[in-house]
Amino acid sequence: MIQKNNPMNIYQQIETEIQNANNIVITSHKSADGDSIGCSLGLLHFIKKLEKKVVVCHPDAAPTFLYWLDSSPILLMSETPEKVTEEFKKADLIFCLDYNTANRVGPEMQTLLEEATCKKIMIDHHRNPKDYADLMFSEPEIGSTCELLYELIISMGFEKSINKNISTCIYLGIMTDTGSFEYSSVTSRTHQIVSQLIDKGINQNEIHNKVYNNSSSSRLKVLGSALSNLNLLEDLKTAYMFLKRNDLEKFDYRKGDSEGIVNYGLSLNNVIFSVIFIEDINDKNNVKISFRSQGNFSCNEFAEEHFNGGGHINAAGGRNDGNAKDSINKFLKILPNYKEKLIN
Ligand code: 5GP
Ligand code: MN
Repeated sequence: MIQKNNPMNIYQQIETEIQNANNIVITSHKSADGDSIGCSLGLLHFIKKLEKKVVVCHPDAAPTFLYWLDSSPILLMSETPEKVTEEFKKADLIFCLDYNTANRVGPEMQTLLEEATCKKIMIDHHRNPKDYADLMFSEPEIGSTCELLYELIISMGFEKSINKNISTCIYLGIMTDTGSFEYSSVTSRTHQIVSQLIDKGINQNEIHNKVYNNSSSSRLKVLGSALSNLNLLEDLKTAYMFLKRNDLEKFDYRKGDSEGIVNYGLSLNNVIFSVIFIEDINDKNNVKISFRSQGNFSCNEFAEEHFNGGGHINAAGGRNDGNAKDSINKFLKILPNYKEKLIN
């Protein structure tokens, strides 16, 4: 946790900022996931209970399997930039949720963020946070930003404000960012929090079904295509897959369809590093890359050093210029340098 020379603890500092603010903007990273949507809407509902004006502004739309959560509007920079700009100009407090560097909101929103003169509060769990906010509640050991949001609300003394709706939002982020409680970031505290959320009346089976058993046929076809492109590098304990633009178009790819596919590589015996290269459907010169590992192999360092990205030890993302083949060639050249780290 990073605090800037203030005798109050981070929870008290955040509470003071919320109480002093009248127009609050909540932001999160582009390509929303369950954690970014969950913490944005969870915090929105909490702040509304304090009778403050508050809006959520995201860079772009979330995948459709997250749209069931609630009907609260999220303003999108990609669709209504003038409305988002107006909200940033009015804001006297901005929350930056689930991202460790300002460029994770995309260039247009990054400019708004950097030009805003009001206080900015980061709540995040990614490694190597950059110093872009005034207050930083950063806990890279914790599995999700939603878990941090829960701790924040409890520590500010608002346990009673956490209703079923807020609990559902928080559960969504904890569930998705821990791979349904599979990752090593899960602690006994995570389960205690979940137990308390269940006591608030959430229906965890329904949430799971809405997120994981709600696929379009395009998603399964994209999964099939990625799996048929699986390559195994046994001596490096690594598996990689790729999705080409042509195939994505053929299978009527929709946003979110490729989410989680990279994890299948880790299901292989003796594989500890899995990577997927996905050609950007809109930009012929861009490849999105996801990295997953088991144990101590650091995905975020690999992504930061070679693929303009970052994230967590066991899950990170990045990008590269050119097509998938260019990125794979670069990857195959670099990877043997990591042999010691991969096989030990
Ligand atoms: P995914 O592979 O699911 O896109 O991302 C895995 C994790 O890495 C997520 O926590 C995500 O927020 C983070 N991540 C993905 N892409 C980037 C990136 O370009 N930069 C940074 N710093 N983190 C990223
Ligand atoms: Mn997260």
